[in-house]
Amino acid sequence: MQAEVTRHGHSQLEAAMAHLSDLIGFDTTSAYSNLEIISHIETFLTHWGCETTVLPDTSGNKANLVARLGPKDVPGIVLSGHTDVVPARPASWASAPFTMEQRGSRLFGRGTCDMKGFLACMLAAVPAFSQGQLSRPFYFCFSHDEEVGCQGAPAIARYLAALDTPPALAIIGEPSEMQLVTGQKGKVAMTVTVHGDGGHSSFAPQHVNAVEYASRIIEMVSQRSRRYEREGPFDHDFTVPHSTALTTLVEGGIATNVTPDTCRFTFELRSIDQASAEADMQALIADVEQALLPEMQRQADKAGIEWRELFSYPAMSDASDTDIFKRIEPILPDRGGKVSYGSEGGVFEIEGGIPSLIIGPGSIRQAHKTDEFIEIDQLSQCLTFFDTLNDWMRH
Ligand SMILES: [Zn+2]
Repeated sequence: MQAEVTRHGHSQLEAAMAHLSDLIGFDTTSAYSNLEIISHIETFLTHWGCETTVLPDTSGNKANLVARLGPKDVPGIVLSGHTDVVPARPASWASAPFTMEQRGSRLFGRGTCDMKGFLACMLAAVPAFSQGQLSRPFYFCFSHDEEVGCQGAPAIARYLAALDTPPALAIIGEPSEMQLVTGQKGKVAMTVTVHGDGGHSSFAPQHVNAVEYASRIIEMVSQRSRRYEREGPFDHDFTVPHSTALTTLVEGGIATNVTPDTCRFTFELRSIDQASAEADMQALIADVEQALLPEMQRQADKAGIEWRELFSYPAMSDASDTDIFKRIEPILPDRGGKVSYGSEGGVFEIEGGIPSLIIGPGSIRQAHKTDEFIEIDQLSQCLTFFDTLNDWMRH
């Protein structure tokens, strides 16, 4: 347990728990506005001497927040987390999802683990960060819409990259049980609509069967995945050590005796950092169109394949070779490999040129679940790490 006492006379851990309770109280499901939580956080950070910048999105309903503490002419360290959470169905929860509840050593509530626990620790540490002189600045970043495809983070990354002195490293607080994660897969999710030419099924050869053409595309997706498994590239730090591809949703046809004229399906490509999901997707689309479009259109002019990208985010590559990593490594937690879930790390790296790591409290196994919780000890470990980081920022 963290015994250190802040200026307010509360222990830092108590402060983190109080902040977390406040943050859970904002229902920031990605479908809703996050402006209230951003304003709540901004008020607190301004009080402790941070210079804040709000970056609204084009709808005006969402915003990112960037706050700097410390000198602006020295490369700093980013601590970043998303403010949105995945939906919760209150009826299936043991306690109200947007009211934090402590039961034993655990704090329950939507977002306790993913990832308001990290945000709460950041806020609880700010009074200590703001004491005396920092030699390097902190950039505290709070994004919108991470859970629906990292939509907010690109604007933060571009804002930071455009500063006279951009930050040197970003620490993304996704739940990693406070282990150091040095890689994350990239992903592209795509919805495909195959347009054929329908009719009475007894005239099958005269029509373009959209379901059958969709099944041939699905087979090409599956073949690609088997090729990744066989040929790599491989990185055994990932639990699944290669890229993957799979189809996840299919719908098509209207009746047993009608040749279907439409079939829609969704698939994803997930890539390790030596590959690019975007580039692989373009190659797959070219292969499919070359193999199938001519014969489809020979039979029916209106036949075709429509591709709609649902979302994409880049992989986060291993920052271990960078100078900043080598300097900060002595204070970083133990390595916990690389992860196959998404994070904003790849966005900071690709959009902002800022090498990134994942270190955050809580376990990804509790994220996105009914009765989501975080162990109080995880918050405590995060605060201890911030304490060490605070010392490092001063020399
Ligand atoms: Zn998250």
